[in-house]
Amino acid sequence: MKRIVILRLGHRVFRDKRITTHVGLTARALGAEGMLLASDDPSIKQNIEDVATRWGGNFYVVNDVNWKQEIRKWKEEGGKVCHLSMYGINLPDAVAEIRQCEKLMLVVGAEKVPSEIYDLADWNIAVGNQPHSEVAAVAITLDRIALSDPLQQCLSGGKLSIIPTERGKKVIERQ
Ligand code: SAM
Repeated sequence: MKRIVILRLGHRVFRDKRITTHVGLTARALGAEGMLLASDDPSIKQNIEDVATRWGGNFYVVNDVNWKQEIRKWKEEGGKVCHLSMYGINLPDAVAEIRQCEKLMLVVGAEKVPSEIYDLADWNIAVGNQPHSEVAAVAITLDRIALSDPLQQCLSGGKLSIIPTERGKKVIERQ
């Protein structure tokens, strides 16, 4: 997999701030290049990009996108679209096929997603056919479809980095 972006649908500014931020942070930590937010909430972009500045990598957030246009553009440019939904095909049954994709958009909802998305997507994929969380769905999917372990990736260029330690906290700060 070369490129992965998240498309976040249905974010409600008051209710979903924390979970949408966690979707973005999780996607960043597990190898996605950015998140497209199909709602107007500039604070999400600000918070996640601040983390990226401090902790490294080039993760971006695009605020207030038109989701249909983004899907159309992505597909015109040769990308595939994977909608995460508990009603879809269970991830283990599709992972080999998805892994071959060079350019993948992962779509996650908040409130009920527009029904059109089920037809626009190349895959409707369940991370187990039980309801849970978009954060968990993104994390497990990124881990399962990765060609190399996303927990071993290095996000460089940040002001802070962690020296893993058995106890306590070791952080290097660059000027
Ligand atoms: N309350 C909403 C509703 O009534 O439709 C559903 C909320 S659900 C927590 C939000 C998003 O999490 C879904 O749109 C989907 O992207 C993701 N999600 C939840 N469970 C999932 C599962 N088992 N597999 C894949 N995605 C899942």
